[in-house]
Amino acid sequence: DPTADTLSIDTGLTWRNRFAALGPAFSTLLSPTPLAAPYWVAQSADAAALLGVDAGWMASDAALQAFTGNRIVAGAAPLASVYSGHQFGVWAGQLGDGRAILLGETAGADGHPPLEVQLKGAGRTPYSRMGDGRAVLRSSIREFLCSEAMHGLGVATTRALCITGSDAPVRREEIETASVVTRLAPSFIRFGHFEHFSSREQFGELRQLADFVIDSFYPECRRSKAFPDSPYAALLQAVSERTAQMVARWQAVGFCHGVMNTDNMSILGLTIDYGPFQFLDGFDPGHICNHSDTQGRYAFNRQPNVAYWNLFCLGQSLLPLIDDQAQALAALETYKTLFPELLMREMRAKLGLPDAQSEDAAFVEATLQLLAAARVDHTIFWRRLGHWVAGTLDQDADAVRDLFLDRAAFDAWLLRYSERLAPADRALAGDSMRKTNPKFVLRNHLGEEAIRQAKLKDFSGVHTLLKLLRAPFDEHPGYETYAGFPPDWASSIEISCSS
Ligand code: AMP
Ligand code: MG
Ligand code: MG
Repeated sequence: DPTADTLSIDTGLTWRNRFAALGPAFSTLLSPTPLAAPYWVAQSADAAALLGVDAGWMASDAALQAFTGNRIVAGAAPLASVYSGHQFGVWAGQLGDGRAILLGETAGADGHPPLEVQLKGAGRTPYSRMGDGRAVLRSSIREFLCSEAMHGLGVATTRALCITGSDAPVRREEIETASVVTRLAPSFIRFGHFEHFSSREQFGELRQLADFVIDSFYPECRRSKAFPDSPYAALLQAVSERTAQMVARWQAVGFCHGVMNTDNMSILGLTIDYGPFQFLDGFDPGHICNHSDTQGRYAFNRQPNVAYWNLFCLGQSLLPLIDDQAQALAALETYKTLFPELLMREMRAKLGLPDAQSEDAAFVEATLQLLAAARVDHTIFWRRLGHWVAGTLDQDADAVRDLFLDRAAFDAWLLRYSERLAPADRALAGDSMRKTNPKFVLRNHLGEEAIRQAKLKDFSGVHTLLKLLRAPFDEHPGYETYAGFPPDWASSIEISCSS
């Protein structure tokens, strides 16, 4: 259609749109719904560089229109995909991209990986159900910042290219304004995509989807040693491994996802769908960050088990492709053995331990109990501990000790820790601790303050947080307040699924 061609925007990217090519059983082709008078809120230069989109072009009005969904992007094939899922442990049936529209998949070139580009909040789709297809500025800022923050922390995650806003009203508990986040990932396929076709006994599509995921992202599954005659069991094992790695990192940095429904679990083991997430302030293992999660299903310390529960759902959905149920169970078993090992590796790194010893699990447990007893600030504790180990700032551990009410319990712990650490090179250990224990995390109150300013059209708070969070292990002198304790009002912030 020549008319569409002259109106469409050339991003300079080349597209190949493999998900669209899977066919109509998987998605509905459609265009985003434009938003009036969009404006820039923020961009991630790191994400733009990853995508390979021209930095100068990103500043243009064409980019603003394209990433708000207001203009057709040349070469893209926008669509909404269909998936199903278990929400809060209950089968929810069909869900699908209700407000996220996949623009397409880039071909990748010159060292840039192929990536899918998705506009979250770009209007209604056949899967919107009662929803309006929109996302509000508040939740979009949280998703934008947390995507880039998680990447900075070394946690596997979908990325965020940019965020645009509009004064178009959006009704939630109150009237807010619309916003679009442009997300990037090699694929946005979720466990729920598999559950969808399996539950409908569409086994041809199920196999097509599994083959697509294997051939695109897990080619090694066709030469699996553990499952030489079942690439699908190998896939389940590979996803179990990726998920174990992701959740081990979550637990180590104190990240609470908040809505670990199976439709919010990436088949690539990426953290996806940032909603009521929270980084722990004081260490409370049972912390529930989602105000709507009255049962605490997704409490911080339940995340590892929920991930397994979700993998089990994925395994059940793959069973029609795996002849032998024992193979599926064996593949899932990988998570159970790998996760504790990975978590211990994370905890040893946090503690700066140079080697592995058999008593380490008990020591880690004692450490976490000590933190939990006094609800000690998670991020500040680990960061200060690194400084003490390095001997740079805090020779006698006063800055760490000050975090505890029960000084005797702390001193007993410190003695045990010092003995365990004795053979280590302290400068080296402290240095590596500061590369794994961040100084800056996206605490709720930091996000809230940036959102408050953004609602007044001052986006400088978002930009400052992006600058700090993309490099959270750096000291960033002059930004101490962003690394400080949360104010008293932080504990009264209520974040629900409404976004
Ligand atoms: P979530 O809990 O955010 O992962 O969303 C669960 C399902 O609800 C997904 O199918 C979303 O696409 C859909 N959804 C959430 N918010 C909206 C909205 N405002 N409009 C349309 N669909 C939505
Ligand atoms: Mg979701
Ligand atoms: Mg969501």
